[in-house]
Amino acid sequence: MNTAAPTRPVTIVTGASRGIGAAIATRLAEEGHDLVLTYRERADEAIAVQRACEAAGARVVLLQVDMDDLDAAARLVPDAVAAFGTVTGLVNNAGITGRIGPFLDAPLDETERVFRINVLAPIVVTQAAIAHMATDRGGAGGSIVNISSGAAKSGSPNTYITYAMSKAALNALTTGASKEFAPVGVRVNTVSPGTTRTEIHAAAGRPNAPDERAPGIPMRRPGEVHEIAGAVVYLLSDDASYTTGADIRVAGGN
Ligand code: NDP
Repeated sequence: MNTAAPTRPVTIVTGASRGIGAAIATRLAEEGHDLVLTYRERADEAIAVQRACEAAGARVVLLQVDMDDLDAAARLVPDAVAAFGTVTGLVNNAGITGRIGPFLDAPLDETERVFRINVLAPIVVTQAAIAHMATDRGGAGGSIVNISSGAAKSGSPNTYITYAMSKAALNALTTGASKEFAPVGVRVNTVSPGTTRTEIHAAAGRPNAPDERAPGIPMRRPGEVHEIAGAVVYLLSDDASYTTGADIRVAGGN
């Protein structure tokens, strides 16, 4: 049980070894957060992010957590609390798309994995976080940001409908949990990036997707990771103290 407010926010960022999660971690460190950062396999890159955050003044605990393993996901919040004594923020960022292709070719085993990592793991981690944060359970409140995607509303035809479905489910988590837990001091919001320049597109089999999609983006360019991180930092800050259930779309006009 928490008896005193922490002097610094303590925020968990999943999938922080590279891409959007690494940018979020670095910005949060600059804003005065202590951090629990997770990665799946790229330990060297994760350690580099840890060092950058520490150089910005943050205390950082780095954990290897494969979100495909829901038992491991369930241990994340307890491990973070054990390390820092409390958790005040959570960014559900780790995610995968599956291979780009027509809907009729989407393999069910891959779709199961997409839903485990993008939906079931965030459910498990968010349940543990809210149980820790909720003021009616002795917590001090907190703030959760789900990293969704513009795909949740476009549906991503001919690309990855199942991924879009998983992000629509994450949006429903924000909508429902924001209302259920607003009375007990927990804010839940979404950031929905459009196509952003990271390695996720190579993993989907289309490394040049950001530049290929640029003509269809009103700003005629993909997003950069720091442009997504700014919205997350805002939602975790006191400036957003009356904001819950919001979806900030950072998608160049799409
Ligand atoms: P990247 O592929 O660049 O990075 C993914 C991060 O998540 C890495 O830190 C990786 O760890 C981690 N990760 C991947 N799989 C797992 C797993 N099974 N368990 C735990 N961690 C895992 O992704 P992005 O930065 O592009 O994406 C971050 C989030 O933003 C995702 O939820 C994605 O859906 C969303 N998004 C991205 C967009 C884009 O265009 N880039 C657009 C819209 C939404 P490791 O390095 O160890 O592999």
